[in-house]
Amino acid sequence: MMKIKILDGVNTIGGNKILVSEYGENYLLDFGMNFNLYKKYFEEFMKERSRRGIYDLWKLNLIPRYNIYRKDLIPSDLVNEINGYENPKINGIFISHGHLDHTGNIALLDENIPVLGTPETMLILKSLSDISKGGMGMEIPFFNVRKREDYILKSGDEINSRDIYLSEKISDKTYDFLSQKFVKKKDVNSGIISDIDGFNSRLEMNIIKVDHSIYGSSGIFIKGDISIAYTGDFRLHGKYSSYSYDFINRVRDAEILIVEGTRISRENDENLSEDDVYRNALSIAQDTKNLIIADFSSRNFERLETFKRIAEKTSRNLIVTKKDAFSLYALDTYKNENILKDLMIYDEKSTRTENWERFLDDNINNELLSPLEIRKNQEKYILCFSFYDLNELLDIEPLEKSSYIYSSSEAFGEEDYFSFDRLLNWLEFFKLDVYGIKRTENGIDFPKGLHASGHVSGNDLFKVIENIDPERIIPVHTTNPEWFRKNFPEKAILPEIQKEYSF
Ligand SMILES: [Zn+2]
Repeated sequence: MMKIKILDGVNTIGGNKILVSEYGENYLLDFGMNFNLYKKYFEEFMKERSRRGIYDLWKLNLIPRYNIYRKDLIPSDLVNEINGYENPKINGIFISHGHLDHTGNIALLDENIPVLGTPETMLILKSLSDISKGGMGMEIPFFNVRKREDYILKSGDEINSRDIYLSEKISDKTYDFLSQKFVKKKDVNSGIISDIDGFNSRLEMNIIKVDHSIYGSSGIFIKGDISIAYTGDFRLHGKYSSYSYDFINRVRDAEILIVEGTRISRENDENLSEDDVYRNALSIAQDTKNLIIADFSSRNFERLETFKRIAEKTSRNLIVTKKDAFSLYALDTYKNENILKDLMIYDEKSTRTENWERFLDDNINNELLSPLEIRKNQEKYILCFSFYDLNELLDIEPLEKSSYIYSSSEAFGEEDYFSFDRLLNWLEFFKLDVYGIKRTENGIDFPKGLHASGHVSGNDLFKVIENIDPERIIPVHTTNPEWFRKNFPEKAILPEIQKEYSF
């Protein structure tokens, strides 16, 4: 008998945490950060206190109440309380893709739980972890083992890694990157890195790629006495839609479908393609006299390609940040397409060179550009910056007739949450011509045309479900579960949080 519990992420976008049990084995499908819950209490400078481990998140009910968390993140005054909760042995956690609303709480999980996913997703998470400054949410796969001192948790000298099982075999270069520690600590315990064949389970499990706005996205098909398919986030209108169609074909036997429904609440929702984005952004670029700033996630490869093409067409050079270059290097160990070719790198002078930066310097030979050089020749560049880089513009001093093209994820933020109001304040300060985001009377609006959604439209979703034809449908990652009840009245189960469903 297959049991499914949705631990979090019901009637909201993001925070997916799904528990699937069969044959005495338990699997988590994603374990993301629930932005909407976090936002109730936290912001940039008001965060969980890492010296208290998971204490704040537990007390504020921001993570599910199970005894499944890393032992070294449980402070002494929480041990008894947590021990009173259910502790299912989790055999593995499947990561559908590298967006924080699907991955943000994984690092908090018990260190013995291995992660399962595509090599690309693991490379993205590993590179983000290397460049982050030790936030406990980012520690995948390596983590610093905290030491208890009274009720406080301190960083120790020991680095551990959880085990990784990948959907396919990987090259030595990818292996080396995934096992490379960019920290100098006394003891480092590396975990197992293997392909999925090395993973021991009575269930049949297939990780299948889908198309979404971040590279390496996937869904999963799990077959025991009955079978389930989980889509993660996906779309049919992207450049790699063949992945999504392949997924649909391969899960057609699934009896249970756990599916996203991000876009079904939106009205007049037409599919915009990446080619539309190219054309619209190109025409802005052609009309821009001075600097162009493009705001998008470099982990959205299609978008990076789009701006590469625009740079070529307008005889400009595309400049990425060092952090983006590092992630691109990581992905290229897998992709082998020389992704970094022709890109310039923004030379952000830091007071201290981190180990990952040293590694990057040793391994690539792209041209570095200082803000002062960009200041002198603004008409020559497209700069890939986002909100967190905008203070660098104080050095660059964009001239009049410079453009800011907001070409990023939808407003609810799959990768970060900050104040769009503050973003606009910066852009207004620099007097930039802004596209893709604007103030309105009631707040902030995202004029269409500069972002192709990562999510399937309502019309496409209806066809997908008809095509897979499951017996039961469990919607997640949606604010409109009623749509499923309306369209598939016999099949839809509108899940209640933490309730167990048996099949
Ligand atoms: Zn996503």
